[in-house]
Amino acid sequence: MMIKITSDFESGNGKNIKKIGENYFQLETVGEGSSYAGYFCFKVINKDRQDINCRVDVILDRDIEYTEFDRQGFLNSQPPLWFNIDGVWQKTFDYQRGDLILHINLTIPAEKTVLITSMAPLFYSEFTKELKEHLSKNIIGRYYEIGNSFEGRPIVLVSIGNLEAQRHILVISGLHGIEFPGIWAAKGIIDFLLSESSEAKEIRERFIVDIIPYGNPDGTVKGRPRTNAQGIDIHREANPLKEHVAPEVRAIWNWIEKYPPFLYINLHGWSACEKGTEPFEGALRPGIHFYRKWGLENKVKECDMSLTEYANPISRYDKIVEFGISYGAEPDNLLELLAQRYGTISYCYEPNMRTGPLSCQEKGIKVLKGLLKPFL
Ligand SMILES: [Zn+2]
Repeated sequence: MMIKITSDFESGNGKNIKKIGENYFQLETVGEGSSYAGYFCFKVINKDRQDINCRVDVILDRDIEYTEFDRQGFLNSQPPLWFNIDGVWQKTFDYQRGDLILHINLTIPAEKTVLITSMAPLFYSEFTKELKEHLSKNIIGRYYEIGNSFEGRPIVLVSIGNLEAQRHILVISGLHGIEFPGIWAAKGIIDFLLSESSEAKEIRERFIVDIIPYGNPDGTVKGRPRTNAQGIDIHREANPLKEHVAPEVRAIWNWIEKYPPFLYINLHGWSACEKGTEPFEGALRPGIHFYRKWGLENKVKECDMSLTEYANPISRYDKIVEFGISYGAEPDNLLELLAQRYGTISYCYEPNMRTGPLSCQEKGIKVLKGLLKPFL
């Protein structure tokens, strides 16, 4: 019997893979900060003519110091794991959780490769290729490459809407490269806006929606939880006026200066921690006092109400969360600059992988509709 295990592919994450016994492996993840160490993604290849049972122990990055809070949170959460055979995503709860370790039991069907992960990826290479091909034949949407990542990967922007429309909305996902729930949500938004739905038509008539599904292509491709290839968290260090700016931030800002949005939706995502430290799903935005300064307070309140109605954000706070100063709303930050210069209202939305890729796509559509309603 012969199986092979690898994380050496796009968005794979496993820095050390050890064989422990017959069809028994250990895989150590690459983490970047304790709460975010839980992303793993690997494949098991069965070249045999019969099904093989195997066991994989996933251990969290040993180079990170975990607090007792992290350990307890990890131990107490029971999110589904996702596996993909022949292109179909399925979930499983068939694993046991120990101290920063997951024991996964798998049956790998004969002559199949199975991908196993905590966060079902939407692969950069495949999806951007699909967008390019699809939009070359589609007159509703336009495909742009607005710049390159540090390692030279194109930053793709899909622009959908009537060219006569003056008002832009900007949607960005994947600034944290492996937060695939947000990337699935962006895909949902693109598919919806290109569709024949009457609501989509109305939005296309009035606005131009610019969507960047992979704000941090290097992070996505390398399977990095937080940073770009330079080790910069470009979500938190997104001030385009700084002296040394990440190329991804530069490219995005160049677009914004040409086509300033009145609404900016920044999509992130959690894996599913139902009982863990952060059972989060929902919307976040800078505090209302922040928008009061720019005379946008009432519009923001309307957006909050509409978003709550449409997307029903579920979070442990049970309401839309306001950023603390440390979250990313500090002076000079991108959001402040957007509000000050262009009167832009910004929201983050974080779908949760618990309910799967399809549901993340539906949530993306609801978030867009909810936030746009006050502007229709
Ligand atoms: Zn994030």
